[in-house]
Amino acid sequence: MTVQNWFWYMEFDTPTHAHMKGLKRIIHRHRSRYQDIVVAESFDYGLILILDGKTQSSQRDEFVYHEALVHPAMILHGSPRRVLVLGGGEGATLREVLKYTSVEEAVMVDIDEDVVKVSREHLRFMNEGVFEDKRVKLVIGDALDYVFSTRDRYDVIIADLSDPLEGGPAYKLYTVEFYRRVAEIVGDTGVFITQATSPTNTPRTHAIIYRTLREVFKYVAYYHIFIPSFEAAWGFVIASNGRDPRKLEPEHVDRELNHHNIKTRFYDGESHRHMFSVPKHLREYIESVDEISTMNNPVYMPA
Ligand code: SAM
Repeated sequence: MTVQNWFWYMEFDTPTHAHMKGLKRIIHRHRSRYQDIVVAESFDYGLILILDGKTQSSQRDEFVYHEALVHPAMILHGSPRRVLVLGGGEGATLREVLKYTSVEEAVMVDIDEDVVKVSREHLRFMNEGVFEDKRVKLVIGDALDYVFSTRDRYDVIIADLSDPLEGGPAYKLYTVEFYRRVAEIVGDTGVFITQATSPTNTPRTHAIIYRTLREVFKYVAYYHIFIPSFEAAWGFVIASNGRDPRKLEPEHVDRELNHHNIKTRFYDGESHRHMFSVPKHLREYIESVDEISTMNNPVYMPA
């Protein structure tokens, strides 16, 4: 009888929906002050980072998530000099931001120093040299406090945060009060982008994030891309008071990527068109939701 020397990891998207990955081994696991941190080696996705039971990134397809998160906002702005990353633990979001030579300073605020340390040790493929770049300023702290206390202005703010889990560290950063402060910091010409959970697995959460941003910003658009290691379409919401993301043409995306000499594996004009072409039934549902997330009544992932 052969002994199975690997095991199944089951990930719950909602209390009644889960998916599984075969894992060869756990490379690192500990509970930090804020969350359960796991780095594991999987059969199909290589190394994966798991926080509080949710896959954050995988070696096979993290570039899809991080390019989808970063480049539409950077190109919509046009020539961002100062960028603020909220969360972003592994450093891959910073990696994509630093590809723009216009960037003079990139500040990353992550609440959990352990995630950064574990990622620098075990996930170098995501953050090779990023934290040593002289343009980077790493702040360990709650992005909520940072945003409400900073007096700095930023051209682009990127919220690469954990999902709004009840009792988790990130849910307050999906509220209208938080977004109002973000809008003050980016001003009339800046751009804000946030990961916005899955329009297929958690459509209500995704729609509320979109609706909440529409309370604050003049131009707001949602888009998504299927990410195999998440086994879901993953959603993003981009917002600005001065630049309409829906007017971003694929041809302009290609011109800008070429102009800035930005090398990408996933994102280009055609991928941009694909992401922003949201199917009718999803558009109708997202636009139908009229709830917003507030500090007193925050939106949570289904528990
Ligand atoms: N890049 C990831 C992915 O591929 O899905 C996104 C998740 S990233 C690992 C989430 C990060 O948000 C974690 O490093 C976590 O520590 C951080 N975070 C959660 N709540 C936070 C808060 N209130 N302030 C700052 N960082 C926070």
